[in-house]
Amino acid sequence: MTDKPKSQFTNPETPGYVGFANLPNQVHRKSVKKGFEFTLMVVGESGLGKSTLINSLFLTDLYPERVIPGAAEKIERTVQIEASTVEIEERGVKLRLTVVDTPGYGDAINSQDCFNTIISYIDDQFERYLHDESGLNRRHIVDNRVHCCFYFISPLGHGLKPLDVQFMKAIHNKVNVVPVIAKADTLTLKERERLKRRVLDEIEEHDIKIYHLPDAESDEDEDFKEQTRILKASIPFAVVGSNQQIEAKGKKVRGRLYPWGVVEVENPEHNDFLKLRTMLITHMQDLQERLKRGGRLSSHGYILPLSPAKGAEPAEMDKDMILREKEAELRRMQEMIAKMQAQMQKQGEGADQPVQPN
Ligand code: GDP
Repeated sequence: MTDKPKSQFTNPETPGYVGFANLPNQVHRKSVKKGFEFTLMVVGESGLGKSTLINSLFLTDLYPERVIPGAAEKIERTVQIEASTVEIEERGVKLRLTVVDTPGYGDAINSQDCFNTIISYIDDQFERYLHDESGLNRRHIVDNRVHCCFYFISPLGHGLKPLDVQFMKAIHNKVNVVPVIAKADTLTLKERERLKRRVLDEIEEHDIKIYHLPDAESDEDEDFKEQTRILKASIPFAVVGSNQQIEAKGKKVRGRLYPWGVVEVENPEHNDFLKLRTMLITHMQDLQERLKRGGRLSSHGYILPLSPAKGAEPAEMDKDMILREKEAELRRMQEMIAKMQAQMQKQGEGADQPVQPN
């Protein structure tokens, strides 16, 4: 049977389907054995549809008990960090997904304060990982680092706001930033294209480093190459989310009902939701690896390398990676030696005769 959807953008028939069971084979095999861990952070002003989009992406209600604060409360509010973890399983592949939400972002008058909470969170997770990784028991460490940040941009403005620029610049060396235009159904096609162009220009102008999808390898199949090309061309993804199932053309779909018709979340002609999901699912490993490769702290944060380009760069990157692994190995050995020495000393102190060296 070959009725399987060819493109990942095609709406899959299976209800409750997210699509990570279709991760590339190599990742798939690893994931089956170990389960896959991924942390996604969502940042943007409240009301831009972050929780709705996350629920639509993973078909899970991550926020069943959320209370929406009133305006007066908002002014007082500082940003909070809310991490929710769900385990999703598809065809035997397990995904342990943590979504880190940042309610209160942009609500307070002094926005700088809200940065600090988020940045400390990212830094803490990173340092914990580095610490665990250099420890003795590194097979069982949990990777809670923030691998990717969806940054929500308002569809109502004429591009990026100063807050957007400041925040993305503050985190772009620490996490992979994926810019997302929220509530794309409020824009006409022309307005959407104009806003996308504007956002991209401003990203360049302000030297903001967003996540760049790596080019497909030359030996990949044509479908995958085409898919990568389309995904790259769609950034920033203009998305629509909804928690409602609506009847459209005789089928139940996730969508938003308007007097003139239904905006379907999973219809690639209506918005970039499926492209965003495909990008996330097919590049989960790359998003993680980029953190691993860049995993050294400097006084300005940890530097994320660019996605591996063709040519000499990967070799450089490999060297760097090998070097870093060797350093970690060395650190582990030093710790082990220190432990053994301490133990020998203890034994030596307890014994009547000093231990003879060989
Ligand atoms: P959050 O504060 O960013 O998490 O926003 P919510 O997900 O709570 O959504 C705020 C409001 O926007 C709700 O009334 C949603 O129904 C609505 N909303 C969410 N996504 C969309 C969208 O894609 N388009 C439109 N028009 N409204 C949306």
